[in-house]
Parts: sequence; C-alpha cells; structure tokens
Amino acid sequence: TKAGESATGGKLVMVTNAEFPPYEFHEKNEIVGIDAEIAKAIADKLGMEIEIQDMAFDSLIPAVQTGKADFTAAGMTINEDRKKNVDFTDTYAKAAQVIIVKEGSDIVEPDNLEGKKIGVQTGTTGDIYAADIKDGDIKRYNKGMDAVMALTQDKIDAVVIDREPAKVFVKNNAGLKVLDKAFTEEEYAIAVKKGNTELLEKLNGAIKDLKDSGELQKIVDKYITA
Ligand code: GLN
Repeated sequence: TKAGESATGGKLVMVTNAEFPPYEFHEKNEIVGIDAEIAKAIADKLGMEIEIQDMAFDSLIPAVQTGKADFTAAGMTINEDRKKNVDFTDTYAKAAQVIIVKEGSDIVEPDNLEGKKIGVQTGTTGDIYAADIKDGDIKRYNKGMDAVMALTQDKIDAVVIDREPAKVFVKNNAGLKVLDKAFTEEEYAIAVKKGNTELLEKLNGAIKDLKDSGELQKIVDKYITA
C-alpha cells in the first residue's frame, strides 16, 4: 500500500527529521528515538507496518498535506498556524524552548537575548519565537546541531531550541550550558492530513492505550534520564 491508502491497508508511512535526539536520530542505518518507538508501538497496536522516512523539518507538514506520508512525528509542537494545515493528535509530551549559551556568557535569562545573534533551526517554534526578540539578529540553520556548532565557534551568542535535544547537544559539546529559565512551554503531538479523522482517531486511541499502560513512559525513560 502507498501512503494515504494505509488507513485501509497494512502500512503507515511516517515522516520525521532525524536530527533531533532523543526524539529521532540515526543509529547505524536506522532511525531511532522516542518518536520512532512510539510510532512503532502505535503501528503494533493497529496491526500495521510502519515505514519511517527522513526529510527536512520544514518539508514534514507539506508531505502530510499532499498524502506522501500518513503522519509526522517529529517532536512537533502544536501551534495555531500549523493547525490550519494539519490535524494534531492528543499530546504525548510536554516540551519547552530553552536557551543554550557558552559557559560564562552574559546571557543568563531570556530577556538578555535582546540585540544578540541567536541561532535557530529553520521553521521550528524556536525560529518563530526568536523572531519576536527585540533587535535580535536571527541566524537560521538546517539542523539544530549546526546552530550549536556555530555557537561553539562564537559565530552566534545563543541557540533557542527544544529542551531535550539541547541537553543532548550540551552533553556532547564541552563549554556549553542550558539556561534554567525556559523561553516557552510547549506540547508535542503527531500530525495527520487535515480531515483524516479515521486515522486521527486510531492514533488517539493507540496513544491513550500507550499512556494508560505505562508503555509510553517506558519509552521516554529509555531515552531521557533525569
Ligand atoms: N518543537 C519544535 C517545533 O515543533 C522543533 C521540532 C524539531 O526540530 N524537530 O518546531
């Protein structure tokens, strides 16, 4: 079956941007992470196969809109603008945009971002919110990791990005830290084509089962240690 036929067929096609640990990233030749495992668990519950495809973050919603994919699970934040283009499932994770700086930076809280060079991943909520920073000089990158690299090279002053990937990137790059105070609070959900209520309801049912059984928390705990 092709994507789009899958509600009645045996396969679900999921798209994601596998540059977003611990939610989705490459391990050997496989896409792994919290979203990948949740998607597999959902497919299992529905008795369907799952195929996961990797693409740029800002191509995910178009892929769902055109029916190239059945859904996207990509640490994607629910927001009003996106709701005009896709339908979101119930949320499966709380999230936040946080600020990464170099150790010793004079940026110690969100207000200090005024007039600074701020790196973001194109098309993300970090990008959207950073655009509101007074006199902010926003530098856009294809991958969150590229923004973090630019920070280590002093090309920018801070990175605004989701909390869990921020923790991973800081752990892997000496001399960086995540500020305690979050920039925004958000929630992640899976997105389907607008009007695909049949799939939306199936996904919501499976998400509820995974929450109620504790399976969802088990997946999260495997990837996120306090
Ligand atoms: N949560 C952010 C957003 O939805 C970033 C997601 C991502 O980069 N995968 O825009």
